[in-house]
Amino acid sequence: MADLKQLANGNSARLGVTSSELFDRARRLMPGGVSSPVRSFGVVGGVPRFIASARGCRLTDVEGNEYLDYIGSWGAMIVGHAHPAVVEAVRNALDRGTSFGTASPYEIELAEEIIQRMPSIQKLRFVNSGTEAAMSGVRLARAATGRNLIVKFAGCYHGHHDSFLVQAGSGVATLGLPNSPGVPMGVTADTRIAPYNDPAALESLFEREGELMAAIIVEPVAANMGVAPPHPGFLKGLRRLCDRYGCLLIFDEVITGFRVAYGGAQQLYDVSPDLTILGKIIGGGLPVGAYGGRADLMSLVAPEGPVYQAGTLSGNPLAMAAGLATLKLLDGAAYERLEMISIKLEQGLRSAADRVNLESTLNRFSSMLTIFFHRGPVGNFSDAAAADHTKFAKFFHLMLDQGIHLPPSGYEAWFVSLAHDPEAITATVMAAGKAFERMTV
Ligand code: PMP
Repeated sequence: MADLKQLANGNSARLGVTSSELFDRARRLMPGGVSSPVRSFGVVGGVPRFIASARGCRLTDVEGNEYLDYIGSWGAMIVGHAHPAVVEAVRNALDRGTSFGTASPYEIELAEEIIQRMPSIQKLRFVNSGTEAAMSGVRLARAATGRNLIVKFAGCYHGHHDSFLVQAGSGVATLGLPNSPGVPMGVTADTRIAPYNDPAALESLFEREGELMAAIIVEPVAANMGVAPPHPGFLKGLRRLCDRYGCLLIFDEVITGFRVAYGGAQQLYDVSPDLTILGKIIGGGLPVGAYGGRADLMSLVAPEGPVYQAGTLSGNPLAMAAGLATLKLLDGAAYERLEMISIKLEQGLRSAADRVNLESTLNRFSSMLTIFFHRGPVGNFSDAAAADHTKFAKFFHLMLDQGIHLPPSGYEAWFVSLAHDPEAITATVMAAGKAFERMTV
């Protein structure tokens, strides 16, 4: 077996080792050989590619094979991998030390940048992941309202905290686990599930239990059942319902935050949530999450208030630097360019599918898209589950064989980045055309 020290030395060319060998070795050390379940190719089968390096929109595996990347570290890499401005910012921060565990100036600039983009956030707290942010946001909502019940939507994912592991979309759906063992009934007993895009179901839930609801938590544009945009008026309806019942509205913008617009989905839909959950892009590829919102609510968080939440590495200077450098690249022109690139991809994929009369539904929202292999439409989790996921697995491998690395599950969004150049889009569309042909013969 090759000595992986070459990797540490920055040599990302052929390492003299295969993904298959590394997968065998990794499986002896880690469950499924991975640090997060969907990476193991469980549902699509085969051997995950062990990526040695990434630049722009391209991944290079340990064997030296190149792939066009549509995972984008699950949305974090919106400016592309190893963007020079992000690398430089991290390098500068690195020279000053990797973690202080004290108050430091680096959090302030990122906090100001986020707050300036999302006026509903008056104060925020940095944490280390989206899971941690969502968990802490719900704790705060329960403390602020003195109520216990929360509502989440089937197929929406808010991290792997116990309260949320009920009908939790992509990773969980991929594995066919409706819930997770180890999550006590008592914890999920306070979680109510509603179908996404179904105001009537929510109304009747609130008629029964509205006075007990601490919060509705929602992905304003669902992306963990594959992409499913909200129907017109759905999000404004949530705001009204919350106001009527004294319940808090939490937007989980871990994916949509600073991907779909300068001010996130809340800007596009003109809905002001009480609390917002962030992650991914605000860390520029390093581990960061944040929760924030109305100042009166955030003032309940320790040390200003009694709601306890803390973190050894929270506000880590490298992560703050990467997040700030990433957000600084995301101006109005960047969002326009991202939209243009994504439209090109959508149009190319649609005409390739039409050419062979492929039964499929393509949902795109800004730079995220999902192809579902059934007639659709797909507006909620049951629609997404009705798609042919065996067909997706076949499609996935036909694409991978042509050097296109899609997310390895039909319940995920493909993420387009600013680094996806016209050649990458053309190559993707051509590869999809060939894959679609193979799938319809
Ligand atoms: N919320 C949403 C909407 C997410 O998509 C994710 C992760 N994909 C999370 C929360 C959890 O974030 P993390 O993986 O950083 O814990």
